Amino acid sequence: MGSGERLLFMNRGAIAEIDLSSISNNLRVVRNLSNNRPVIAVVKADAYGHGAVEVSRRLVSEGVEYLAVAFTEEAKELRGAGINAPIMVLFDPDTDDIFQYNLIPVIWDKRAAVLLSREGERRNIRVKVHIKVDTGMGRLGITGDAAKDILEIANMKGLTIDGIMSHFSEVDPSDVSFARQQICKFDSLKNELSKTGLSVNLFHIANSAAVMILPESHFDAVRPGLMLYGYSPVQKSEVRSQKSEKKTEPIPAMTVKTKILTIRRLPANTPISYGRTFVTKRDSIVGVIPVGYADGYFRAFSNNAEVIVKDMIVPVIGRVCMDITMIDLTGVEHVAEGDEVIVMGRRGNISIDASALALQAETSPYEILTSLGSRATRVYK
Ligand SMILES: *Cc1c(COP(=O)(O)O)cnc(C)c1O
Repeated sequence: MGSGERLLFMNRGAIAEIDLSSISNNLRVVRNLSNNRPVIAVVKADAYGHGAVEVSRRLVSEGVEYLAVAFTEEAKELRGAGINAPIMVLFDPDTDDIFQYNLIPVIWDKRAAVLLSREGERRNIRVKVHIKVDTGMGRLGITGDAAKDILEIANMKGLTIDGIMSHFSEVDPSDVSFARQQICKFDSLKNELSKTGLSVNLFHIANSAAVMILPESHFDAVRPGLMLYGYSPVQKSEVRSQKSEKKTEPIPAMTVKTKILTIRRLPANTPISYGRTFVTKRDSIVGVIPVGYADGYFRAFSNNAEVIVKDMIVPVIGRVCMDITMIDLTGVEHVAEGDEVIVMGRRGNISIDASALALQAETSPYEILTSLGSRATRVYK
């Protein structure tokens, strides 16, 4: 590659390719597993780094019943992009925006209910709300005698209870006992309320893990996030796996790529990067890639991750820098500056997915996706 072409790489180093057909596939997987129950698709945190507007458009075109975001600001962005589907706001029952943008707030205490009720009454409409109860997550939701509070809220003017929800603390395939206790509490609440004659459209608690392994948690609707982006929170990570993809499995939608900025031939005993944590053991060919922790490629990957170059897995060597990382290209044939590097993704039978990276950095695929995805330049296909 001639030096004149280097100008091509002057933009920030990481490109995230988002395959929207995988999102469609993954929604079908959710529908199969949940017997076509309504799906509340969680697109918070910019759709886990995949781009909330594009992902939501695709999901809505596939007929998804609800979208869910964390904060009203995110819902406003979707409305601004012309998305008219019902949007649930999980954490932020801000009164004005709820009315102005026709959103469905999740309320987790009576105070928020009182405010919404007043505002609904003032505007002479009934705002639909979902009520969150705490069955063991210890984060948000009505605790104690939830039925009593819910019945009080049900009698308030200006609002209608469309749904009642809860959230799992843990759905671990090796021990689902706590999840079962949460389901049990949620189910008793449902029974208690139905005895009072209160009719509620949707009871929902199932996140991705529960969609996959706890059918008894599916109730009236399911509420997956991670699965839609192609990951099973309950499956082993896939490192260099030869496994073929089955139609019934989620397919990762995001691939993160970059190009080799430069290639250097260095003799044995050359220290690499900050702190000299790696020293070449042999005459080496070292690739420099324009991706670093400022791109969401964690510093924890220093000497502790791999990338794919020309159908080969090659290691990261030395510390990951802010904008730059070094890789060992010794032994990779015909490699040239400008060649593609897959930081996260698949080529042929080899793959480095977010679960594999998460294991290496001692974190979760959620953090890998939101970090890499939110900082890369996104392209859609
Ligand atoms: C994020 C979130 C979900 C989705 O969880 P996944 O594990 O990504 O499926 C569902 N419900 C609530 C309340 C959430 O905050």
